[in-house]
Amino acid sequence: MERSYIEKACASVEEGLKAVRHDIEEAAVKSGRDPGEVTLMAVTKTVEPVYINYAISKGVRLIGENKVQEFLGKKDELDLSRCKAHLIGHLQTNKVGKIVGNVDMIESVDSVKLAGEIGRQSVTKGIVTDILVEVNVGNDENKFGITVGNAPEIIDEISRIGGVRIRGLMTVPPFLEDAVETRKLFCRMRQLFIDIDSKKIDNVYMDILSMGMSGDFREAVAEGSTLVRVGSAIFGQRNYR
Ligand SMILES: *Cc1c(COP(=O)(O)O)cnc(C)c1O
Repeated sequence: MERSYIEKACASVEEGLKAVRHDIEEAAVKSGRDPGEVTLMAVTKTVEPVYINYAISKGVRLIGENKVQEFLGKKDELDLSRCKAHLIGHLQTNKVGKIVGNVDMIESVDSVKLAGEIGRQSVTKGIVTDILVEVNVGNDENKFGITVGNAPEIIDEISRIGGVRIRGLMTVPPFLEDAVETRKLFCRMRQLFIDIDSKKIDNVYMDILSMGMSGDFREAVAEGSTLVRVGSAIFGQRNYR
C-alpha cells in the first residue's frame, strides 16, 4: 500500500515533534527545570499550510513566521483559532502597519524607532502589541538586535512608548562549533533577563526568554529559555534561510 506524499511528510512532522518534545523535556529535567516552563514554537517559514495545520492538530499552540508578506499570504488558510502566531524575523518600519494586529507578538524589536512605529500603529488600531526585544548576544555583525550593554537603556526608552508592552527578550546566537560557547551566550542572556527584571521598570514584564533553535535548543533550555523556536527539526530542511 503506497502512502501519498503528504501523508508521509505529515508522519515525519509528527516524528520530528515527538523527538523535539522529548529532547526539551530531557534538557529541562537534566537542569532541574520544570519542562512545563518551556513553550515550543514551531517555526513555519517556507512551510505550506497543510503541514502547519497538521502540526496544530498534533498539539502545536504557537507558530513563528519571519516574513510579513509570507505570513499574511497564508494566514487565512491556517487554523489560528487554537494556535498563536509570533513574528520572529527582522521587521522594517514600512511593514509595521501590515503586521500590527495580525500577530500575537513581535519578537524581533531591535530599535526604539521600530518600537515607536509599532506603538503608533497599535494606538491607531486601539490595541497594545506585545513585543520582545531582540538582543545580539554574540555581537555578530550578520545578526540583528541591540547589544547586551545597550539593552537596559533601550528597554527603558521603549517602556515609555504607548501601544507596546515588553514581555521579554529574544536572541539568535551566531553558529558556534563548540556547544559550550553557545551555552555561555545563552547564560549571558539569562543574566541580562534577570537584571532587567530586577529593575522593575513600569510596563516591562520579563516573562519570556526566547532562545534556542533546532541546533541549540537543548543548550538554551539548560540555560533558562522559556520559549524555543524550532523549524527544521520539525518540518525538515528548508530551501532558504
Ligand atoms: C528560522 C528561524 C528559526 C528556526 O530555525 P531552525 O534552525 O530551522 O530551527 C528560529 N528563529 C528565527 C528567528 C528564525 O528565523
